[in-house]
Amino acid sequence: MNQFYITSSIPYVNGEPHIGHALEFILADSMARYARELNKQVIFSTGTDEHGSKIFNKAKELNLDVLDFVNQTSNQFKELAKSLNISNNRFIRTTDQNHIDRVKLIWQKMSKDFYKGKYIGWYCDGDEAYFTDSEVRKMNGICPNHNKPFQKIEENNYFFPLSKYSERIYQAIVDNKFKIYPAGKRNEMLSFLSDGLEDISISRPIKKVPWGIEVPGDRTQTIYVWFEALLNYITVLGYPEHSDFKQYWPANIQVVGKDVARFHAIIFPAMLMNLGLELPQNLYIHGFVGINGKKMGKSLGNSINPSQIIQKYGVDPTRYYFLRHISSSSDGDFSFEAMDEAYNNELANELGNLVQRSVVMINKYLNGEIGDIPPPEHDIIPYKRAIEAFHLDQAIDEVFKQVRSLNQYIDETKPWEIAKQNDQEHLREVLEYLASSILEVAFLLRPFLPETAKKIEGIFKSNKLPSKVDLLFLKIEKSKKNEAN
Ligand SMILES: [Zn+2]
Repeated sequence: MNQFYITSSIPYVNGEPHIGHALEFILADSMARYARELNKQVIFSTGTDEHGSKIFNKAKELNLDVLDFVNQTSNQFKELAKSLNISNNRFIRTTDQNHIDRVKLIWQKMSKDFYKGKYIGWYCDGDEAYFTDSEVRKMNGICPNHNKPFQKIEENNYFFPLSKYSERIYQAIVDNKFKIYPAGKRNEMLSFLSDGLEDISISRPIKKVPWGIEVPGDRTQTIYVWFEALLNYITVLGYPEHSDFKQYWPANIQVVGKDVARFHAIIFPAMLMNLGLELPQNLYIHGFVGINGKKMGKSLGNSINPSQIIQKYGVDPTRYYFLRHISSSSDGDFSFEAMDEAYNNELANELGNLVQRSVVMINKYLNGEIGDIPPPEHDIIPYKRAIEAFHLDQAIDEVFKQVRSLNQYIDETKPWEIAKQNDQEHLREVLEYLASSILEVAFLLRPFLPETAKKIEGIFKSNKLPSKVDLLFLKIEKSKKNEAN
């Protein structure tokens, strides 16, 4: 089984990309690249979620044609992926005709189990999601994501019998057939499932939500945006008949944010079970990124467009910060001050300096010739284990442990002293070890910092090193406080 299928969630295009989207793209991309290093044939899919009343209203508010509006915003996400060097080879839009046709087909397939009923309950437009009485009570009637009271709605909709699936999903998680990371999220989903599930409404009246996929055979209803958006993960592979679907499903990894965890840990698996399909193997749930120690939010006016960060520091440093300085298993924080520190102290001083001083010494003492060097025998199992347990932050820690110890090795072996003693053999041994270890560092950085890895390999893989190389990371001046605001 050499096929490997990984997805990010598909961002909802009612606004501009923010750093949370950047985080998710970078996480999924690193895992996709790691899989390619293991010689897997990878399909890495992302895209945009484009239906629903929130988008419809936003377009109206901006006085734009809805399709023009989604074209525009979808493009911003495509551009973001490009600017972060994201290696996705699929980009699905839920307004693609292909998606719409397949969703209708799936609806018809599943519809024998749907029933019509009256939905009386709570809804948050901001989340495009339904909430139960007890949830609403817990939150005192106000949606914490949007600081808005929940709307009470009463309408005739189609229902999906979600309640039938709670035990089976619970069991799949317990049996590790459907693995959820990190453990805290896994437990949260299990506890939610053990309370039992309620059936869910899966359509809205077309009068209220005209911007959606029409329910086949019923012109008065559109399909609930989440219900069809979740199906992107199989429609993009050409479910049911396409060979990609047959070869690549089930997904190896789905990467999603904690705000949409339940959709992916519970509703989507139930839909797959209804279709008689296997569940994804791994669901990895990441946290939120705050800014300057505060929650990020439009109402707080502290949103940062990731392009600001990329422009200032470059692509790889941006990836580096999000991978290493945002915890892989909980929430994290971004500030320009912290980014400056990470950039100057770790990328410029530790990694950049290691490469620079090694190049200088190899040129000076070996005339730039290092020849064929055997790979070092470092233990990379902790690195691999960390990635496979979705602790990408720890995997990079491992690489930087090695960077630090190589700098230390130079300080301790003092090649310049060996040169004075004219011990050419020892000198060559030391510098060869350095070069091969740096190549290994580059190899380990490939999934995370692809451009940096390529640059380092370009330098040390040549028979004769270039006589001078540019600094990998030019030190930057510290940001002024509160630049983010
Ligand atoms: Zn809300």
